[in-house]
Formats: sequence, structure tokens, C-alpha cells
Amino acid sequence: MPDEERGRSYDAVIIGAGHNGLVASFYLARAGLDVLVLEQREDAGGLLATAEIVPGYRTNAVSNSCHNLEPSIVTQMRLQDFGLRFAHPDPSSVMAFADGRRFVAANSRSALADELKALNSGDVDGYFATLQVMSSLAEKLDVSFYEGPPSLADLYGRLDNDTDRALFHRLMFGSATDFLGERISSEEVMSLLGMVAISGNYLGPSTPGSAYMLFHRPLYRGSSATRSGERFHTLGTSKVAPIGGMAEIARAMTASARAAGAVIRTGTGVASIVTRHGRVTGVVTRDGEEYTTDAVLSAVNPKLTLTEFLTPDQLGQELATQARGIKMDGTAFKLMLAVAGTPRFTCAVDDAENDRLLKCGFRMGTTISGMDQGYHAALAGEWSREPIIWGLIPSSIDPTLAPEGGHVMSLTVFHAPPRLVGSTWDVEKDRFAGHIIDRLDALYFRRLKDMLVGYRALSPEDLQRDFGLVGAHVSHGDITAGQMFDARPTFGLAHYATPVAGLYLGSVGTWPGNYVSGLPGRNAARRLLADRADPDRYAEFGAAGAN
Ligand SMILES: Cc1cc2nc3c(=O)[nH]c(=O)nc-3n(C[C@H](O)[C@H](O)[C@H](O)COP(=O)(O)OP(=O)(O)OC[C@H]3O[C@@H](n4cnc5c(N)ncnc54)[C@H](O)[C@@H]3O)c2cc1C
Repeated sequence: MPDEERGRSYDAVIIGAGHNGLVASFYLARAGLDVLVLEQREDAGGLLATAEIVPGYRTNAVSNSCHNLEPSIVTQMRLQDFGLRFAHPDPSSVMAFADGRRFVAANSRSALADELKALNSGDVDGYFATLQVMSSLAEKLDVSFYEGPPSLADLYGRLDNDTDRALFHRLMFGSATDFLGERISSEEVMSLLGMVAISGNYLGPSTPGSAYMLFHRPLYRGSSATRSGERFHTLGTSKVAPIGGMAEIARAMTASARAAGAVIRTGTGVASIVTRHGRVTGVVTRDGEEYTTDAVLSAVNPKLTLTEFLTPDQLGQELATQARGIKMDGTAFKLMLAVAGTPRFTCAVDDAENDRLLKCGFRMGTTISGMDQGYHAALAGEWSREPIIWGLIPSSIDPTLAPEGGHVMSLTVFHAPPRLVGSTWDVEKDRFAGHIIDRLDALYFRRLKDMLVGYRALSPEDLQRDFGLVGAHVSHGDITAGQMFDARPTFGLAHYATPVAGLYLGSVGTWPGNYVSGLPGRNAARRLLADRADPDRYAEFGAAGAN
């Protein structure tokens, strides 16, 4: 770092250059603030990263899809001017069953109905009715993802009849299995929707609370339809894939934030936040450098921010206890495969269909009871024998990611507990990777092992160490009603500000979560700016202590 930049004072310091930190830095810099972003890794982007599996084969290291990326952010940050390009695969996703059948998530209702009929499930009406009741309820609740959240009590008050109130209860507090079972009877359709309910949450589809994740997307669609201001039909409403992989989003966001004036410093981990008389005065890096500022926006995991960057005296004892209690156990495992050849889906009827499926996001998994068993295995400290596998073949969208004729596959796998009982991830990582490869080869991709050039796996411990991903949790805290709305990340902090004046939270661990969307970072920046326009508003959060 040049000497003249050491110890400088900034209007705002952002901790963490994950995509939310980058989005926040852009909005603050564009508003005229002098902004510094401090990132511990050598590259900005957090979980939007690329890894080399073996020489010549590169793929998404962690996150795979960006269908939640907020269209208005893409436009305002001018990401396409900074070189970001999207592919629009159609169909966009496929669910493959162990017996060789599949469900292709086509973009039209009639094509979807044909797919459901082909499963012989008898659940065509039940499938659409299940989606319809959730959309109608979401419309009545009219939740905004573009500002701080309502409370559950607020939402309850928006419903005017017992039928809706009963549905609300089942979606907020009930299980996915019970909710889906109201209108759907076949194992296939139950499991294809049941997998959505997991999505990184530490639960099984029959665990109370798992139904919420089914409802989260209808809530987002309702919110986006009325509020985004961007009717950018190519994003948000259909699946998209960034050409070159997810790191391209991070690269374009970094360039955009820098062009707006933000200073982004990588390889610089933050150790603590400095406060005086209950107000932020700066941050100290792990190297002992101090940067002074009266506004810190932490875009790293909120639990980490509250329990490691601050002492209980700085935060207040009660809130420190509450923060330690934020549940932060994930079950994600990452596996990247390099193959010398074209993967062949077992479920593809011919080469032409295989070509179409190659560009799809794919899900492979198990039955509802298999998913529940995977969760129970995780609770017992073991990895699932019938894991849920979400994957993508990024080289089918951008062939430069692999040598000619070869491909890369990026797989996200659940359930893998952060803590094993009776073994360690050093021992189990390759065993689990081998088990996943065996299952893929036996059930889902013909002769995959014959084409395998190499693989790279990231255990939950690797994800924690390499990406600062506390508990290896994909969204810095479960997306369940008990950790959403005014409980995200915990009560009293849901509107991005904290009792430490000038400290804001803005990672995916804050409302509305929503994976790779950028909304938490945008909303947190907006809140910080609103408070700056009227500094007395800091007072409404109270002083936190005498530090
Ligand atoms: C295996 C896996 C697969 C996923 N797949 C998808 C997917 O396909 N689609 C999707 O939408 N979402 C997916 N997600 C979730 C999604 O990637 C995350 O929710 C999202 O990227 C989080 O963004 P963020 O900016 O809030 O946080 P992060 O990306 O976690 O960024 C936080 C940043 O803070 C930095 N940091 C941490 N500590 C410090 C410190 N002390 N000092 C300085 N910097 C620090 C970290 O290095 C990191 O760069 C996946 C997650 C995982 C783990």
C-alpha cells in the first residue's frame, strides 16, 4: 500500500468485498462519499470466485447461479458497460431422477404441464395450484425487499380472513413436506419442490419451518414486480448465466465501484471496529493499521461482525448475547470436476436433447425421506449418503473455461455438516467427493468416471477458511421465518443500523437475504445515506456503552 494512503480518514469504510460490499460501495461512492473497502482475500467478489481444478480447467469455485441478481442494480452499476454478458439458456434447469426420468423446467406453462404429465405423477393441477396459492398470498402480503423488513406481526395484520391466516401459519412455521402434501401426492413432484426448501438451510423438508423457503421466491417476485422500477425481463423473471462464470459479476462490480470513486483494498483483513462513546471512529486491520471514519458498513457475516469485531462492552451485553445466539450452521460442500469429453445426461433421450440440457442448471437428489435422512445424518455429524446435488456445466456457456472438447462441472452439495463426529474433514473430504462422483456416474451421467481428468473439493472447513464463510452457511444464516423479517440477522438490527452509532450491517445475513441479489448491500447503503442526511437519527438507536 502506498504510504500516503496509510491511516487515511474516509467518509465510510466497508468491510468485505463480497458482492454486497461492492454494491454498497458503489452506491455510497456515487452519492459523493469518500469510500474505502477492505477485503481479506486477494480478489474481490467473495463467493463469486473462479478456481482452477487442474491446469486449463476453470470453473465457479462456489456460487453458480445469478437468477436473483437485482435487475435495477445491474442497470445502475452499468455492469454490462463493464463487460458483463449474460447467456439465457432455455430451458434453464432440469431435475434428474435416479431412475432415469427427468423434469425440465421449461419457460412456458404448457411445456411444464407436459413435463409433469411425462412423470405420470397425476400432479399437474396440484403443482400449479401449489404455486398459485403462494403467489396469491405473496400478493396480499406485499412485502418489500427494497427497504427494511416488516415484522411477522405486521404481515399477519395484512390478512383479513382465516383461510389466509391459516396458510400464512403453515408457510411460516410448517414443514415443506406437509405443505406440499396438501395438493401433491407423487414422490417425484414432492421431491422436486422439496429440494428448493433446503437451499442451504440446515434442515430437512419435514422439519417445521422448512416451508418458508418455498414461499421466499413468490414473495420476491411480488416485491420485485411492484417495486423494482426495472422491468428488465431478461433477469429476475428467467434464469440467466454470466458468460465466463460468476466471478465476471464480481469483476464488473469492482470496476463499476472503482469508476464511481470507491477505493478497494484486497489482501487486508479487518480485526476490529473502534468506537468512542458509543460511536464508530474507525477500523483496525489485522496488520494493525487504523483507518478513521464515522461510518462502517460491515458486509461480512453479521455474527462475525458483532462477536469478533466488537467486544460485548462496545455492543452492549444483551445484544452481544443475542448475537452469539444467531444460528449459523450450513451444510454446503463444493465439488468441481474437470472432464475430457462431453458429459452425457442419463436422462437425455438423444444427443440433441443432451446439448440442450448441458446449458441447464441441474438438480439431482433424492426422495423427501432421503433428504430428511441427509439432515439427520448431518445432525449426527455425518455426511449424507444420498446428497442433494445442484450443478452447472459453465463450459457449455463459455467453452474457454476448458481445453477444446473438455468441460467443467461445478457442483454444490448438501448435506455436509460443518462438524463431523468421529472423523475429520481432512479424512472425509475425498471420501465424500468419491461418493458423489460414484453416484453421478452410476445414476445421472453416463461414463462420467471414464472422462474424469481431476476434481477439486471444498469441505465446509475449506469454505470457512478460504472465504470467511462462518459455519459454511451459504446465506450467512438460514432463510427461515425464524431468521427472516425483523429477526434477520437478529431483533433490533433488521433495518441495517445497529446500536453502535455509525455501524451498519449489509451482507446476505441481513434482510432480505436472497443469495446473490445485491439487495442487502444496496439497502444498507441507502440506510446509511438516509441517516447521514439527518445525523440526529443516530440517536433513535441509543448509545451502546461508554467505549
Ligand atoms: C457452495 C455455495 C453455493 C452457492 N450457490 C449459489 C447460487 O448458485 N446462487 C446464489 O444466488 N447463491 C448461491 N450461494 C449463496 C451466495 O453465494 C451468497 O449468499 C452470497 O454470495 C453472499 O454474498 P455477500 O457479499 O453477502 O457475502 P460473501 O460473498 O460471503 O462476502 C463476504 C466477504 O467478506 C470477506 N471477509 C470476511 N471476513 C473479513 C475480514 N475480517 N476482513 C475483511 N474481509 C473479510 C470475505 O473474504 C468475503 O469476500 C452459494 C453459496 C455457497 C457457499
